[in-house]
Amino acid sequence: MQAEAIAFERFDTLKDDDCEQRIIEAKAVLGKRAVILAHHYQRADVYKHADLTGDSLKLSRLASGTDADYLVFCGVHFMAEVADILSKPEQIAILPDLAAGCSMADMANLSKVERAWRELAEVLDPDETITPATYINSVADLKAFCGEHGGIVCTSSNAVKILQWSFSRREKVLFFPDQHLGRWSGHKLGIPPDEMPVWDFDEPMGGLTPEQIRKARILLWKGHCSVHQMFQPQHILRFRNQYPDGKVISHPECSFEVCKNSDYVGSTEYIINTIREAEKGTRWLVGTELNLVGRIAEEFKPEGKIVQFMAPTICMCSTMARIDPQHLAWTLENLVAGKVVNQIKVPMAEAELARLALERMLEAS
Ligand code: SF4
Repeated sequence: MQAEAIAFERFDTLKDDDCEQRIIEAKAVLGKRAVILAHHYQRADVYKHADLTGDSLKLSRLASGTDADYLVFCGVHFMAEVADILSKPEQIAILPDLAAGCSMADMANLSKVERAWRELAEVLDPDETITPATYINSVADLKAFCGEHGGIVCTSSNAVKILQWSFSRREKVLFFPDQHLGRWSGHKLGIPPDEMPVWDFDEPMGGLTPEQIRKARILLWKGHCSVHQMFQPQHILRFRNQYPDGKVISHPECSFEVCKNSDYVGSTEYIINTIREAEKGTRWLVGTELNLVGRIAEEFKPEGKIVQFMAPTICMCSTMARIDPQHLAWTLENLVAGKVVNQIKVPMAEAELARLALERMLEAS
């Protein structure tokens, strides 16, 4: 008989210290049956309980290689979907708070992308001329759309390679949902700005003329990350005036102007590794999420490295922060009681197509 789930209300008002103790105890009971995955942007009071840490793809791949029954993903919704898609059939992906979404992923949905595909068909044959490429920060049905239409998934580490793969098959790319990652990666391939117009999904024909569509190499979906859009070129300028020897490193979800003014641009793993390998005593301005920057600032302090956050305001991934110690304790205690809460399950047909697009990426990169 299925056990009764413990209601979240019993955890909602628990103090963080109590939660911490209960998480530790539940983890001890579950042992290797559950693995806790924490993304780099996760808040410290949850991150400290992680068995595995990293970016979304790395975590999903590592988790699928474990023998754990439960993959408890302390990230956002699309990450738990990827974990489910790449996991073994018997493994169960769980998101401790279903409200932990990604504002960027939400900027593209299947009906809008299908509409774009139909509208593009009025100008050219999209299945002959356009590779759909989705950033991993997207919902599973968009990955499935890419799988079905000869397309592919990319991450912030491999986007340039994935564009090359895409161009080797078809002359154009529809890149969603992050215009900034698409633009920066296209720029790295030498594509001029007027060949990378923005597809505004709220406008008929994306707000573009047939000439603009024919001329385009990359059609950039009008999406962005609400966290990374907060970083501005003037933040870099101020830092450079103050510390002429300092180095600037940014995530490619930042605007083109921020990336262009940075010394280094790359994924979260790249940012961490670049600062780790830098000389002792160096100073860094970092354009990515606050929890990650705070963590590396502490980690590299003993080496005399000064790591500074780019914006004067707080730029946190507030949706990821919804996964708090209360939700984690609730999830784990339910597992101890034999009840799975908040399972993320991608429908089988969709998961197969999405896996195809993910496998193309793994092969290409
Ligand atoms: S930082 Fe931005 S892109 Fe990353 S999960 Fe949060 S909202 Fe999504």
